[in-house]
Amino acid sequence: MQKYNLTSSFEDFIDDKELHSLLNIEEDVVAIRDIFQKTKSKQALSLKETATLLSIKSPELLEELFDTARELKRSIYGKRIVLFAPLYIGNYCVNNCQYCGFRSSLRDSVRKTLSANELNSEIIHLEREGHKRLILVFGEHPQYTPNFIADCVKQCYAVKEGNGEIRRVNINAAPMDVEGFKVVKEAGIGTFQVFQETYHKESYKKYHPGPGIKSDYLWRLNAMDRAFEAGIDDVGIGALFGLYDWRFEVLGLVRHSIYLQDRYGVGPHTISFPRLQPALGMNLDLPYAVSDLHFKQLVATLRLAVPYTGLIMTARESSQVRDDVIEFGVSQIDAGTKLEIGGYQEKRDGEQDLSREQFKVGDSRDLDNVIYWLLSRGFIPSFCTSCYRLGRTGEHFMEYAIPGFIGGFCTPNAMLTLAEYLEDYSSQKTKDAGYSLIENEIKMLGEAKQLELREKLELIKQGKRDLLY
Ligand code: SAM
Ligand code: SF4
Repeated sequence: MQKYNLTSSFEDFIDDKELHSLLNIEEDVVAIRDIFQKTKSKQALSLKETATLLSIKSPELLEELFDTARELKRSIYGKRIVLFAPLYIGNYCVNNCQYCGFRSSLRDSVRKTLSANELNSEIIHLEREGHKRLILVFGEHPQYTPNFIADCVKQCYAVKEGNGEIRRVNINAAPMDVEGFKVVKEAGIGTFQVFQETYHKESYKKYHPGPGIKSDYLWRLNAMDRAFEAGIDDVGIGALFGLYDWRFEVLGLVRHSIYLQDRYGVGPHTISFPRLQPALGMNLDLPYAVSDLHFKQLVATLRLAVPYTGLIMTARESSQVRDDVIEFGVSQIDAGTKLEIGGYQEKRDGEQDLSREQFKVGDSRDLDNVIYWLLSRGFIPSFCTSCYRLGRTGEHFMEYAIPGFIGGFCTPNAMLTLAEYLEDYSSQKTKDAGYSLIENEIKMLGEAKQLELREKLELIKQGKRDLLY
């Protein structure tokens, strides 16, 4: 077993009773419309206001919720959708999460950790597809030490293939102690993600029976406190939807965000809301499975509750659900996703082999097709990593709130990174659609910006890369 160094003072900021009592709020049209009005000023919502939105049941108010979320998303993020790929490094795991294809009690699962050579090959394949942003995913095991994880991160940044390079590496791994977080921070990580899975203590206990440290609810709940203590200000939280009442989980996520904001002056950089998918040997009675409509409602509610937090919708969802939900608040998606360890270099066709993968993927389209879909919906696919690389993270990330920031930085950067993709990796169909969208978008910028951007786009056509604002 790994040794953990418990230096942080732990605080249990989830009060089950309080969250349950907030779920008793009745639908009140006036109060709900007041909250819609308040969101026009782009302020984050209180827990009670979030609970008020969660009380919505009538179709008419639901439509108003979706419209408000769509508008808020447009006004804060513009038309950009950031793209990334998950890279599974290893699936050895000491924990026994009842829903996961990597859990220790599964004897039939094929265990593997990428060697340095195999990791190299995975990175090269991802770069050849056009990816610039990765999230590295690990089981929880003594071999996945902070130093091992840091080495994987450094390798991702070091491998270059043609014009390809990885510019941002996020992590989804077991929570560390403060010393461990310091080690991975040094390697230049982007966001460190830890999902609480469920904020409901009784359900947490049920689905994480042990063995393994993950059965300790508080160790996980305070993971981000330790990350902040180690100097990491870019963290991602999440809940695995389907383990308990989805409304309770939304309140848990918002409570967690408010807690981090109050205590450290910085909320989470991202929130993820994976829905439970079938996994090897998963034979669970799931009374809290979340319908597609409730999924859309939870995304829209989160958008209004935490306007400046990135919302990540993964390829666990089908292409239809992604198409239906993306406009209501999502800012990041993965594309061309392969979950098998070594899956990018192996290119196995046909059905997924669940003995080698964590769960079933819903959207198996490749990156080019996902980009084409986004373009045809009027979104600007973005590989931008500029804020992070220029130090605009944590509290500085709030520069987002400055009027004109999106138009001056984010949208042009999205177009520049899209143009790189179109030049180096795309199909002709995507290239035509991409440049046509860029042309339309440029026309909406001020004259000086247009001129400047056209010059940069011309340089990209001539072979220059990484021209960030
Ligand atoms: N092992 C680390 C941990 O548990 O924190 C790293 C991440 S785990 C590989 C990534 C996430 O996948 C988990 O936090 C969980 O939310 C999600 N996950 C696990 N099983 C799943 C399933 N059957 N369907 C959907 N998501 C699942
Ligand atoms: Fe291990 Fe993470 Fe899967 Fe739990 S969710 S079994 S900790 S890989």
